[in-house]
Amino acid sequence: MKLNRKLKMGMVGGGPGAFIGEVHRRAARLDGGIEMVAGAFDINPKKSKQMGRELLLDPKRVYHTYAEMIEAERKLPEGERVDFVSITTPNNWHFPIARDFLKAGFHVMCEKPMTLDVKEAKELQKIVKTSGKVFGLMHNYVAYPMVKLARDMIRNKELGKIRKVIVQYPQGWLATPLEKTGQKQAAWRTDPKQSGGSGCMGDIGTHAENLAEYITGLKITHICADLTTFVKGRKLEDDGNCLLHFDNGARGLLHASQISISEENGLAIWVYGEKKGIEWHQEHPNSLYVKQINGPVQVWKRGNDYVAAKSPAAARATRLPSGHPEGFFEAFANNYCNFADTVRASLLGQKPDKLALDFPKVEDGVRGMLFVETVLASTKSRQKWTRMKT
Ligand code: NAD
Repeated sequence: MKLNRKLKMGMVGGGPGAFIGEVHRRAARLDGGIEMVAGAFDINPKKSKQMGRELLLDPKRVYHTYAEMIEAERKLPEGERVDFVSITTPNNWHFPIARDFLKAGFHVMCEKPMTLDVKEAKELQKIVKTSGKVFGLMHNYVAYPMVKLARDMIRNKELGKIRKVIVQYPQGWLATPLEKTGQKQAAWRTDPKQSGGSGCMGDIGTHAENLAEYITGLKITHICADLTTFVKGRKLEDDGNCLLHFDNGARGLLHASQISISEENGLAIWVYGEKKGIEWHQEHPNSLYVKQINGPVQVWKRGNDYVAAKSPAAARATRLPSGHPEGFFEAFANNYCNFADTVRASLLGQKPDKLALDFPKVEDGVRGMLFVETVLASTKSRQKWTRMKT
């Protein structure tokens, strides 16, 4: 049986001038199975109403606060009320909003980093389990087809035993004290109360950590970290470099930075096994480089039959033929597709398709917070190498 209607989406955050809320709204509707019907879009209730008008929503479904939204939406019949809510607020609000919507019986898609710390993350994990609801975490970079191809090549043992992983996420936009100019994305990201105990490692280092564990299927076990705050007066680190140990004995390097002048979103990963290596760049996401011993570097390109033959997950995450580039919006939409199929299965009391379960979940959020906790502990410690707890 199929659900004979679109899924109804609500949003918390994503008010006028916000960054990622609009990306979620566009990505969620890309494939036509989801419609936006309600929201509490801004910390300022007037701006929430303004956003609702801009989105041409029914004013009765545009709320002053998320608590008001839960109270009103839960009273509506299924099929009319929101099926799920997307949380696109700064980090400090993720936990209370996710907790309250899950407890009220709604499915949740949440932005990263999932919570402010490990304690909240583990509590949320328990709440997701007892609620029986679907929880998606927007680590969008694992949703690119060529990342899924790399993951499947490694799963199929084509690279052999993994020896070394290098992952980087350099940006340069915080090389000056931008937060002092009133730039609001910079302001909350450099405020520990809203961002959490870490700056660039929480904001973008967690994407790098998630990408490395997703592609390799390995877990980081120990970290030797060095965090630095370069911009005077800033309360959180704006640069970090880590050495990594993985659970199969592989070694790694992870660096994230927001003071690397002129770098934009330079997320990239290199994985080297005993037989082959791979290389992928977020800013050129339609190509995957495959490296062979004593052979030329191969360039695998998205949208070709030879990719689909090797990776059904990559094929599922592809909309356009080769040569027509896909990017950031499509990757968000891929997570939404898989999440939405899983929500539909839950509404129909069915088991989701195995490929649909390929989206980041609460466990990834717990790993992200454990990573941040370990990096912070290692930076403070004199012994440096620090075990990442489970
Ligand atoms: P932003 O400052 O541009 O937007 C935040 C929005 O949330 C604003 O409209 C603000 O008014 C609203 N808001 C704050 N508290 C609220 C509340 N209690 N109720 C309702 N609305 C509230 O921030 P942003 O850059 O869009 O980041 C938002 C989140 O998305 C962060 O957690 C960030 O880490 C994450 N993010 C993820 C990616 C990604 O690639 N996955 C990229 C950027 C940001």
